[in-house]
Amino acid sequence: MNILERYHAMEYGPAPEARNEADAWLAARDFSKALFIGGDWKAAGGGKTFDTSDPSSGKLLAKVSDAGAVDIDAAVSAAAKALPKWAASTGYSRAKVLYAIGRAMQRHQRLFAVLESIDNGKPIRESRDIDVPLAIRHFIHHAGWAQALDRDFPGHKGVGVVGQIIPWNFPLLMLAWKIAPALAAGCTVVLKPAEFTPLTAILFAEICERSGVPKGVVNIVQGGPEAGAAIVNHPGVQKIAFTGSSEVGKIIRKATAGSGKKLSLELGGKSAFVVFEDADLDSAVEGLVDGIWFNQGQVCCAGSRLLVQEGIADAFIAKVKTRMGRLRVGSPLDKNTDIGPLVDLTQLDRVRGLVAAGAKQGAVCWQPDVALPASGYYHLPTLATGVSPANILAQEEVFGPVLATMTFRNTEEAIELANNTRYGLAASVWSENINLALHVAPQLKAGVVWVNGTNMFDAACGFGGYRESGFGREGGREGMFEYLSAKLPLGPVVKPAAATAQPIEQVEGDTIDRTAKLFIGGKQVRPDGNYSLAVATAKGKLAGEVGLGSRKDIRDAVAAARACKAWPEATAYNHSQVLYYLAENLSGRAGEFAARLTELTGATAKAAREEVEMSIERLFLYAGLADKFEGRVHQPPARAVTLALHEPVGVIGIVASDNAPLLGLISLVAPALAMGNTVVAVPSEKYPLLATDLYQVIEYSDVPAGAINIVTGRSAELAGVLAKHDDVDGLWLFADAETCAKAEADSVGNLKRVWTGNGRSLDWASTEAAGDAFLRRAVEVKNVWVPYGD
Ligand code: NAD
Repeated sequence: MNILERYHAMEYGPAPEARNEADAWLAARDFSKALFIGGDWKAAGGGKTFDTSDPSSGKLLAKVSDAGAVDIDAAVSAAAKALPKWAASTGYSRAKVLYAIGRAMQRHQRLFAVLESIDNGKPIRESRDIDVPLAIRHFIHHAGWAQALDRDFPGHKGVGVVGQIIPWNFPLLMLAWKIAPALAAGCTVVLKPAEFTPLTAILFAEICERSGVPKGVVNIVQGGPEAGAAIVNHPGVQKIAFTGSSEVGKIIRKATAGSGKKLSLELGGKSAFVVFEDADLDSAVEGLVDGIWFNQGQVCCAGSRLLVQEGIADAFIAKVKTRMGRLRVGSPLDKNTDIGPLVDLTQLDRVRGLVAAGAKQGAVCWQPDVALPASGYYHLPTLATGVSPANILAQEEVFGPVLATMTFRNTEEAIELANNTRYGLAASVWSENINLALHVAPQLKAGVVWVNGTNMFDAACGFGGYRESGFGREGGREGMFEYLSAKLPLGPVVKPAAATAQPIEQVEGDTIDRTAKLFIGGKQVRPDGNYSLAVATAKGKLAGEVGLGSRKDIRDAVAAARACKAWPEATAYNHSQVLYYLAENLSGRAGEFAARLTELTGATAKAAREEVEMSIERLFLYAGLADKFEGRVHQPPARAVTLALHEPVGVIGIVASDNAPLLGLISLVAPALAMGNTVVAVPSEKYPLLATDLYQVIEYSDVPAGAINIVTGRSAELAGVLAKHDDVDGLWLFADAETCAKAEADSVGNLKRVWTGNGRSLDWASTEAAGDAFLRRAVEVKNVWVPYGD
């Protein structure tokens, strides 16, 4: 045997991580009192416990107190009691606490890593080198945000008591992503870890006790879905931050509808791993191993769909198979282990079931010839080829070590396949041609795109999804906004239309047809149902009629808005020019609009002129901001830059109220357009003629067809149609409270981003009813990671 042969024949010996410190910690604790509430350790009120076990052996680790509704109530009360003092404390004092937590975690880094591995099953290499260091970085990074609040978020304050619910796949890291920004913002928290993995959260609570966290600021309650639901429904909670499955995310969206609770949802994914033919294939294979087999594939952003260009597919798949044959499946505490067990038997059964279903639908499922440990919930890494886009393995989140493979011919097809999913969490793009990669990245509907890399995370860079992967971001500046609120100037309560309707007096002898049509796809069109709605003057006389828009008209308007590519693809300068042009053309007809306002609303001539003038000014403002509300470049602690791009949300439905009918409508439509969204607007139900008078202004202002669509009619009914429409990405709604609540509940289909006034309008004349608060709602932040260096 020569040296090379000997080298290849060498086998890894066992390299076990010591677990005595973790065992001693487990033995010393009374887990029947594991609820950390108001700084004390409590048993569950009902005396219930649940088991947590080691997934590599199935052995019981602890019987942990299982919180019920009374315990959640106690935890929320403790958080509410601690809130005033914590919220009023200086940024510096909160920064010191966050920093102390980070430093204390550093001192117990190895214990955290071992506990995480024995409770979750993840290889120690991952918990030691990724989960725990990233969690610590999160606390230390957010210490800075606590002190920078006044500087970076003027006019904002913490939202209050926050309920946080997390999954089991990154128990400590998800806890850090939740608790660090909340504390920095001056919020107090009630956090519920997942029932499979309670241990590191308990150790974390001990760290809080020793790090100067005031009693009640952090409350950690162990429990299952019942405890989670009690947090979601508790009236004392002002915000819910949830990470978990899209299924439960939708339940929570419905449950919080109309409650006024702020909500962020970090949900599942089915992320594409796109390999172009000019990629460095060996690097891409290593990336793929990390992309799909990191944490046994139990990763929300796992690159579970491999899209590989046809010409290199065979060669690439052959390399992947060879590499899969070298993956070491074994004990999570062995430092050489690549793949540990899944978290629980139920998860193993679920993954097996999905693989079997995928195979039944035609996928060829290949596994390497690797021995599995005798006990534990292990699943071999699995490669599915021959997967059709409709196959369950291409569509469903497996949350296990299963890779579905498809091929593509050209760039357009790659983008189309990558976006062929209801999710939108992450994507990886592999090409040595950086121009190609940066051409593709903005076209992928995903919150994070890694160029020639995967699974890069940092506390300074936002993370979160598009579409059914949820809304809101964690990390960095955009993550801080999730825990802050700024007061917008409130307007009057919006009453249901029926409550304000008045009889209309027909004007004798007036036979002119004054029915204004709808404005869809750049054209004035009759409503599908051919019905119209009478509009009254302030004196109760007939002012004219407008089309009574219906479900079908909204459908057409949404289709026109979606088909309009010219607007989202136009440059920011172009957006700016068109908005200036709109302002200019409105200005040319200012007198006419002022007269119409007086006729319909009864406003004095002076007030009407002021509203028109303010509308023109607002268009000017957003024209000017269109090329200034830009993204950022982050410099994370890695050889990479992260481009935080501001992308349009997509198609935004806007329902305006009767209050300041021209200014209110323009105050909503203009920021949406400025950021490149296309719009379907439902104007004030009572004064729609102000919007229909705008058609000509729009027609003369170079607005591409479909960028602005206007459907007049019954606001509540049309809002409901927009809320349920799965091709509407965002909905801004200033309607009565019931309509707002219903729209939030109805938006679960595609988890569109809904912003309502909760039954209040805004004081549109206020200068605070404009600016960044609006522009922020008009964009999604996409973080594109671009590594550099050889
Ligand atoms: P899950 O949705 O079943 O549970 C998540 C948490 O919600 C748990 O703590 C659970 O007890 C609680 N819960 C369950 N039902 C509830 C209810 N009705 N009301 C309130 N709380 C309830 O998810 P899981 O199986 O624990 O985690 C896996 C999922 O999490 C995957 O879909 C994964 O993609 C997702 N995830 C997303 C991210 C992200 O940042 N987007 C990160 C990690 C995991």
